[in-house]
Amino acid sequence: MVVGQNAGYHRAERLMGCNFDLTVVAADEGSAKDYLDLAVAEIQRIERLISSWDSTSQTSAINRMAGTAPVVVDRELFDLIQRANGISRLTDGAFDLTYAALDRIWAFDGSMTRMPDREAVRASVAKVGYRHIRLDPESSSVYLPEAGMKIGFGAIGKGYAADRARELLERAGVKGGIINASGDLTAWGTRADGQEWKVAITNPLNREKAFAWFPISDRAVVTSGDYEKFVTFEGVRYTHIIDPRTGYPSSGIVSATVFAPKAELADALATAVFVMGIETGLDFINQLPEIDLIIVDEKNQLHVSNGIDLEVYRADN
Ligand code: ADP
Ligand code: MG
Repeated sequence: MVVGQNAGYHRAERLMGCNFDLTVVAADEGSAKDYLDLAVAEIQRIERLISSWDSTSQTSAINRMAGTAPVVVDRELFDLIQRANGISRLTDGAFDLTYAALDRIWAFDGSMTRMPDREAVRASVAKVGYRHIRLDPESSSVYLPEAGMKIGFGAIGKGYAADRARELLERAGVKGGIINASGDLTAWGTRADGQEWKVAITNPLNREKAFAWFPISDRAVVTSGDYEKFVTFEGVRYTHIIDPRTGYPSSGIVSATVFAPKAELADALATAVFVMGIETGLDFINQLPEIDLIIVDEKNQLHVSNGIDLEVYRADN
């Protein structure tokens, strides 16, 4: 994803364990710096709330207290979990915050040398299921009723942070900008030179080359599928996205790009599409208004939802 020249004031920053790229349209460098500081502080604040790596986060407290007691959390976190569960219902459990109980048995950093054994998968998948999360709106508390249950925001957190940073900047009066969280992005207004924001869908076999350029004013685009995060066992390439219902990683899709009004929804849906597979994923997205999908499969073939006419956007290369 590339933002062209004359787009606005720009900053790259490592946040939430990934590379964020923030661009704002502003009158001068000084005010741009203030806006970018605001956005960075907001993303750091969200990271402190939802990180499972940070032992002092409210999310870690929920996980630590699994099977022991409910944890009272900020309304913001409570609401995020509630919306995430709504997406779980919508996707028939393909997206599920409680997938995180499977974190213990799958690693996608190259450290795994063989498939985990069936028993280990079965034992872990027994701890998965968004329906078990107990949410009490009155006390704003969250309870994972079984020891070993765990939630993780890996598939929705970046999108949520991008949405929040954008909202904050819009409220502060920024007329145009783009928040790009390593491929999860949301844009509003126009570039400093008045042109539309555009994003490139990259060719997974040749990262330097774009398949197509898409205009994205007032929309979010999220690409799931990290071409580096996968393991191969007996010729099957498994991604870092796990089917919460079986406990096994999904295969068949190399990347899924979802267009939606909000990055949070796009992020979660892109993950869900991986789990659903090509056909079910396309059918599912075609039933949702204002949402579109581009899939790249293992043979480098493109599959697009009804709202996308690739020829219109095809890059000249
Ligand atoms: P990317 O890392 O390519 O941006 P995603 O946004 O789909 O992709 O996030 C993948 C991450 O989401 C995984 O690394 C893991 O932390 C988490 N995750 C994996 N499978 C699921 C799932 N079925 N539901 C919710 N979260 C998941
Ligand atoms: Mg996602």
